[in-house]
Formats: sequence, structure tokens, C-alpha cells
Amino acid sequence: MRNPITIGLTLALVCMCGVVNATPEKLKVMLLDGQNNHNFKATTPIMKAALESSGRFTVDVLTSPDKKATSESWAKFKPEFSKYNVILSNYNGKDWPKDVQASFVEYMKSGGGLVVIHAADNSFSRWDEYNKMIGLGGWGGRNEKSGPYVYWKDGKVVRDTSPGKGGGHGSQWEYPVDTRDFEHPIMKGMPATWKHSKDELYAGLRGPAENMTILATSPSKKTGKHEPSLMVIHYGEGRVFHSILGHGAAAMKCVGFISTLQRGTEWAATGKVTIPIPDNFPGPDKVVVGK
Ligand code: ZN
Repeated sequence: MRNPITIGLTLALVCMCGVVNATPEKLKVMLLDGQNNHNFKATTPIMKAALESSGRFTVDVLTSPDKKATSESWAKFKPEFSKYNVILSNYNGKDWPKDVQASFVEYMKSGGGLVVIHAADNSFSRWDEYNKMIGLGGWGGRNEKSGPYVYWKDGKVVRDTSPGKGGGHGSQWEYPVDTRDFEHPIMKGMPATWKHSKDELYAGLRGPAENMTILATSPSKKTGKHEPSLMVIHYGEGRVFHSILGHGAAAMKCVGFISTLQRGTEWAATGKVTIPIPDNFPGPDKVVVGK
């Protein structure tokens, strides 16, 4: 005869399994940093916490060798992309070794996810496949050979092939983010305009901009144009969410930044969005800062 404690324990385990099965498995995020002209040591923990606070993700941080690293250190840098649902890049630095580039292209083409935050779109200006993934980028010698300038005018996307360098920004300010695609899963339910915390507004980015949808734009004081501020790109079977927001820790406290980061990361990982927009999401007039 089985004793009551064993039966009780068995029932408890069955119940626990039931609970586990009812909850969707957490999505695995690789947050990749290691080099950046921005303070990645301050911003990586903020993005990790922002994602994990949604309850939808677990985040592993992978830090690459630094700028002065030897080729021996780089030879040991073997990110296991395929173990993750999505890669979040907080990296702006030296080119990865060719084998790492190749494994990342393979991961993305076969259905991986990528999230590009702020200066991550400055990286790898000469790596064609990366530029296709991110749609638009800046600096690093980018110019008309990189692709057109892309901006929003009179309800339409303009692709401008005129010569000039790619990438710029004015001084930081609290700028509006205007939704341009109300139906995309990341944007569904977001206000037409919301005010972002003081941040850099990238302008005049250039790139192939293939298979790219502009989700939101912001009015640049530098170019006088509505510059893409949130974008998605399809690359092979993979999905990319690209946000120009997030120069530093203060900008990342914006509830709008956090919500778009969470929803964009979920979409890049799965193609769907289940994380709700918070009740305190900013409107057009006032910045809202989270914890
Ligand atoms: Zn910046």
C-alpha cells in the first residue's frame, strides 16, 4: 500500500507540472556586448532587467573580447546563437571573426531573431549581410554606396539616393515617436504619438533597407525630416527589430523604450506579441519614466 505522503507528493508534482505546462516557456535572449562607444556596462543590465521584468524572457549576457584583445582571445569567441530565440545586440566594435559572422548569418537566415539597439547599427559597416539585417546604419564610412537615405514624408516612405555620409544626430531632447504602422503586432494599441525621454535622435542613416517596414518615425532637428526610429526587417527566415532609441541609461528608463524593447524582442523571437502595453505608456505630452 502506498503511504499517504507519497500520494500527496505525487499529486503535488502533477499539479506543478500542470502549472508549468500552462505557462509558455520563457524565450531565451542572448544579450551581446563587449565593445561600444557608448556605456554598455551601464545599459546592458538595464535592458536585461527590462526584458526579464516582463516574465517572458531569460537573458544571458555574452561579452566579446575587448578592443585590444589578441587574435587568440577572438579565436575562443564562439557565440552559440542557435541556443537562443533572439540575439540582442548592444555591440558596436571590431568585426567579428569570419566564422562567427558565418554562423550568425546561418542562424538568422534559418529563422533567428535579432534586436538592434542604438549604436549597434553603427557596427560592421563593411559587412554586407549585417547591413541587410539592420536595414539602415550610420557612421563607419557609410555613404551612398551603402544604400539610400530613408525617411517619411506625406504618409509615404522616401528613398533618397543622393550622395552623402550616413549617420548623424543633434543634441539630445525629449522627442516624439510617431506611430506609422498601427497594425504591426509590436505597435498594435500604441498611441499615434508618444513623448520619449531625452535621447539622441539618429538621422540620415543609410543602408539597403530591403524588406524593411518603418513602424515609427521621429522629427529630426538635424535633417528636418521624419527619420525612422523603430523598424522591422525580414532577413531570410529571420526577423529583426531595430530601435534607434537608447543612447544611455537615462533614455532607457522611458516606459516607451522599455515597452517597445520588450514587444520588439518578443516579435523578433516568435513573430507574435503577447506582452501587454502598460497602462502608464506615455502619451504625446509627457515623458513617463519607469523604475
Ligand atoms: Zn548615442
